[in-house]
Amino acid sequence: MGNPYITPGRVRAALNTLNLRPSRDLGQNFLIDAQVLQQIVAAAALTPEDVVIEVGPGLGALTYELVQHAGKVYAIELDRRLAARLRDEFRAAANLEVVQADVLRVDPATLVGAAPYKVVANLPYQITSAALRHFLEAVPAPQLMVVMVQREVAERIVAQPPDMSVLAHAVQFYAEPSIVARVPAEAFLPAPKVDSAVLRLVRRPQPPVAVDDVDAFFRTIKAGFLQARKKLANALPGGLAGLGLRVDKEAVVHALVAAGVDPNRRAETLTLQEWARVHAALGPLLAGARAS
Ligand code: SAM
Repeated sequence: MGNPYITPGRVRAALNTLNLRPSRDLGQNFLIDAQVLQQIVAAAALTPEDVVIEVGPGLGALTYELVQHAGKVYAIELDRRLAARLRDEFRAAANLEVVQADVLRVDPATLVGAAPYKVVANLPYQITSAALRHFLEAVPAPQLMVVMVQREVAERIVAQPPDMSVLAHAVQFYAEPSIVARVPAEAFLPAPKVDSAVLRLVRRPQPPVAVDDVDAFFRTIKAGFLQARKKLANALPGGLAGLGLRVDKEAVVHALVAAGVDPNRRAETLTLQEWARVHAALGPLLAGARAS
């Protein structure tokens, strides 16, 4: 039998039964495209050994597939009515645990312990960046994430120089991203205003650059992007000042040259490796700025 949760009629009927008007604040856009659903499941390459965390199971279209293909599924749903319905609908699925909570407040380790796991989700758009960060920085972090996000966000995440952003660096530091499918707004009910994409993030065994203080490294990158339209010679001292780190412009230019980065370039054009060199060259300046 096919997935009974994916048709528009079934989604409408479930919403009627629950007397639920989909909440925009909770990103309640339910998937109604069986082909897209299969693309998500295929990209997750599930086996009976897999432990999966699903974010926002909603009415259960994706959950239905996950419980069939994975060994254990934790489905975290914030909406009480949906969580209660899901528990009821899937009471026969012994490998499903429905957790009624805000995903951003759930430490994955409390569910999976130290076991490897995957995150598979049609993410609520309002918390896309926060949810990605939550899992990428978690200990343990998922070995694989297959997530539906806004198309524009997916494209920003897979970007390469000269189109980089803080978000692209933040994701690519931890994972190798690729776009599995571009998904039109009509694949959801109700249809959101923008198109979506299925993003696949494969966890890197280790970051592509060695940095001793990840937070400080990303502070430098953020500083470069605060005034991204300007050349680094101006953008970086300005951005550092914006973050409360006053450093001499000439010293910053000197550090850029020492790092092998032309001070006339813009932040979007730098690779992660170049940022690592810039950050190392700025090191003594930043230490001084913090002390002052
Ligand atoms: N998985 C379903 C599907 O594909 O049809 C629903 C996906 S819908 C885009 C997002 C779901 O996330 C909704 O069910 C919503 O209630 C839930 N949600 C919103 N914010 C959440 C949060 N902070 N934590 C957990 N779930 C959340």
